[in-house]
Amino acid sequence: MINVTKAYLPPLEEYNFYLQKIWESCWLTNEGPLAKELEGQLKAYLDVPNFLFTSNGTIALQIPLKAMELTGEIITTPFSYVATTTAILWESATPVFADIEENTFCIDPTKIEELITPNTCAILATHVYGYPCQVEAIQKIAQQYNLKVIYDGAHAFGVKYKNKSIYYYGDVSTLSFHATKLFHTVEGGGMICHDKSLNDKLQLYKTFGHYMDDYFTIGINGKNSEFHAAMGLCNLPRVPEFILQRKLLSELYQKNLAGFKLQFPKLSEEVEYNYAYFPIILETEDCLLRLKNKLAENEINTRRYFYPSLNKLPYLKGEPCPVSESISSRVLCLPLYQELLPEEVNKISEIITHFLSTYR
Ligand SMILES: *Cc1c(COP(=O)(O)O)cnc(C)c1O
Repeated sequence: MINVTKAYLPPLEEYNFYLQKIWESCWLTNEGPLAKELEGQLKAYLDVPNFLFTSNGTIALQIPLKAMELTGEIITTPFSYVATTTAILWESATPVFADIEENTFCIDPTKIEELITPNTCAILATHVYGYPCQVEAIQKIAQQYNLKVIYDGAHAFGVKYKNKSIYYYGDVSTLSFHATKLFHTVEGGGMICHDKSLNDKLQLYKTFGHYMDDYFTIGINGKNSEFHAAMGLCNLPRVPEFILQRKLLSELYQKNLAGFKLQFPKLSEEVEYNYAYFPIILETEDCLLRLKNKLAENEINTRRYFYPSLNKLPYLKGEPCPVSESISSRVLCLPLYQELLPEEVNKISEIITHFLSTYR
């Protein structure tokens, strides 16, 4: 069975080295030394001034919404993981969906302005599959209308735009280090905020709103443990190698699948990509469903990611977003992970090309 993703596990001795330290200190959680060490290494790796390690990528979205008191309408993308939208709903704000671009699958900045009302307080957009949003256009709109910008950067670990980390943009960027992500800590996530005072506030919010005996505000438990930090410390030095391996596999898919009726997202020249996913867009949903079945018959798991378009969630009444609805009905993520073999990519590609050349 080939799965769509496979979590990386470091050599057990490496993890044991950190377990030894935890056993010695008996410091298991609560902003311990390994969590602090990981935060320091992430700051350096991503070249950002601040990094806050959280228990997952969903709480990392909820905390800034709460801390910036974003309770009105939030213009957001319908093409993301469901957590992007449910974080807004959970904080009792209202998601307003702006459709996405055909090429990048990210929010279309030209659709944002017409949705702004006096109640609009923020834009929450996702760097889908690690492809950067139109960050400059979004920044311009946000400045003009005095809106906050939060980027769900769960897919964008290691991505650079114009030689700078993509996490440089927005008031806050959020990350997920879930086991299925390019860089993982089993469960985990993070918040990146360049403004010192907002960063301090986010830190307070993720630790119950108090520091020692001083109680400043409401807060929540958004911190992460030493065991999760240890997994991150093992995995982080390997990220450049992960990206390189994924790049080679992605290029092999690309070469094998060239010339068939498939659409791929387009990357701007100014992007240094992380190869987090390998999505293909089929011509129709019928074609997608039949191909997915064909691959499953061959013990190859793929994922409809993202599906459904979030404006179509059964508990919402979102306005139509034709581009997002069309793409989400036709997109399939193919298996991609470090340990996937080139032979396996060739086998998957062959099944796809054979299917496409006989599909009626
Ligand atoms: C994974 C993911 C999340 C949620 O992160 P968790 O760590 O699983 O809570 C949010 N947004 C996007 C785009 C994701 O891919």
